[in-house]
Amino acid sequence: MKSIVSLFLALCASLAGAQTSGHDDPNLIPQPAHLQGLPGKFVLSEKAVLLAAPAFTNEAALLRRQLQTVTGLPLPVLTEAGVAGHTIALLQAPTGNTGPEAYSLEVTSNQVTLRAAEPAGMFRATQTLLQLLPAKVLNTNSPGGTRWELPGVRIDDAPRFEWRGLMLDCSRTFQSVEYLKQTLDRMALYKLNVLHLHLTDDQGWRLEIKKYPDLARKAGFFPAKYHEPASTQGFYTQQQMRELVAYAAARHILIVPEIEMPGHSLALLSVMPQLACTAGPFEFFPYSKGPGITEDVLCAGKEETFDFLRDVLEEVTAIFPSPFVHIGGDEVPRARWQHCPLCQQRMKQEGLKTEAELQSWFNRQIERMLAAKGRRVIGWDEILEGGISSTTVVMGWRGVSYALAAAQSGHDVVMTPNSHCYFDYTYGAIDSARVFSFDPLAGLPPEAARHVLGVQASFWSHIDREPELVDRQLFPRLLALAERGWSPDNRGNWSDYRRRAQANLSRLEKLGIHYEPLDLLGPVGEWTLGSLAGGVTNLEFDVTAQITGSGEHEVTAAYVRGRHPAHLHAVELLRGTEVVARDQHESLVGWQTPRQTYRLRVPPAGAGGSYRLRLTLDLAGGTNSFGKVYVTKPATK
Ligand SMILES: [Zn+2]
Repeated sequence: MKSIVSLFLALCASLAGAQTSGHDDPNLIPQPAHLQGLPGKFVLSEKAVLLAAPAFTNEAALLRRQLQTVTGLPLPVLTEAGVAGHTIALLQAPTGNTGPEAYSLEVTSNQVTLRAAEPAGMFRATQTLLQLLPAKVLNTNSPGGTRWELPGVRIDDAPRFEWRGLMLDCSRTFQSVEYLKQTLDRMALYKLNVLHLHLTDDQGWRLEIKKYPDLARKAGFFPAKYHEPASTQGFYTQQQMRELVAYAAARHILIVPEIEMPGHSLALLSVMPQLACTAGPFEFFPYSKGPGITEDVLCAGKEETFDFLRDVLEEVTAIFPSPFVHIGGDEVPRARWQHCPLCQQRMKQEGLKTEAELQSWFNRQIERMLAAKGRRVIGWDEILEGGISSTTVVMGWRGVSYALAAAQSGHDVVMTPNSHCYFDYTYGAIDSARVFSFDPLAGLPPEAARHVLGVQASFWSHIDREPELVDRQLFPRLLALAERGWSPDNRGNWSDYRRRAQANLSRLEKLGIHYEPLDLLGPVGEWTLGSLAGGVTNLEFDVTAQITGSGEHEVTAAYVRGRHPAHLHAVELLRGTEVVARDQHESLVGWQTPRQTYRLRVPPAGAGGSYRLRLTLDLAGGTNSFGKVYVTKPATK
């Protein structure tokens, strides 16, 4: 009897498995619009061939190169059908969805079929295919001994938004071309499609301009007295940027250049002081060595300023085919304009009543230059002040309300609110769960919603500068942004997302990404303004779920925000009322030392029992302090 029951159960299990390989969840990110498990598996073997429509030669070549690298299989590419057997077919055909990035993908036991109308859609399909294979497919060499299986599946997919971006600030900290290429590969895997490069700011001019050869050569390097490391200095030659644009285009990623104006221009003014309202000289300095914003901006009264910008934009548009050119426009102090005779004369002559109107007049000059080249202006949301033309795209950063106001007034907007999308903020402030909870269309009537082009993560590199640290700020939360930009609104399903994201950590490791390991765990507790009244306080959190057995556990106290650091004296673990583990040492948790780790050796216990964690801390310097507490068990090595 027992054997019949188990046979029956085994049969049920195999049937269930056969019907829904979906149970073997492929853990795709972003989640496709429609996904259905199919019976069977496709095994990549010696017999496999690639069949590629002529329009998809590039996409087939990139896919083949990656598959060959890891499998060592011949994978010949054919351009005509009629080959029997094991085919991965890249077909040009309409799919159930419209738009250039729409695709479908079907895996059965003897054929993999990718369909798209356009190369962008086919490229996205190939990235889904890579995610269906084991994480080792992202290796840079053949791991050997791997069975390369694709689960049976049918996917119909298209993005929710056309703009799914990442901004890297290459001005504050120069990032190598290698790192940018790596970033493009990582973006491609998760279907992000805009890399916005912040190329100029107070702390550096990073793009070669042929007509002004001194500019990048001087303003790409800090004065020697600051002893800045060589790795954070430099500029991009036009040739390098052209290669990067081509590298991105092959992955159907748009590079949007940003040339800041009229503010955030100190590095430029240090080389060309004649473009300022006052005489100079100007010296630029690393972010940590002075005010974040300086009053010296480009003079709006001088013709020279516009001649210079025309020359620069001429070269910029020749390098970057992007239909959008970002002109910054944020955080512009107008004090110099108030006292500059030329700026005041310009205002009189143009009938402008305020300096805010002068900035909007400035923007319109630039807009006209770019429109003549068929390009659209995009700027930070301050460009709304003083009025802008309806074709200008607004990048909303100061919070969702600014972006909403822009969309409601008929401007196309890209959402990168600092409440959810600023990835230089700590994980305590913005973790994956928070990014995942963001709906760019929340509260928008349909006529305004159609103006939302999409979402973007923005990373300002004035604090975390080494590539490893930038990685950690971006990952894994960038995956949550990728999902928000591509997938249908599924915010209610955080636990499903978290499971898929955790499964993706092995992919991030294969890509060599130094991601933040605490992000997806969630904190066991937190302290906020006022929860520490002053004096020495004990905070206690239930950690029964986190103490999974005896042995070493790590407690991390992480800074979230606030002016005052918390002074941590000790961390103890209690079973019932008994202290069973303790790490007593002094530390400060604040913006300068954002995380402190304490180690607890949990003794073997009898069954049952609950655990509480006790932190002894005080806020001697003030109560404006926010932090989160995490418990982890270090991986056994
Ligand atoms: Zn002026």
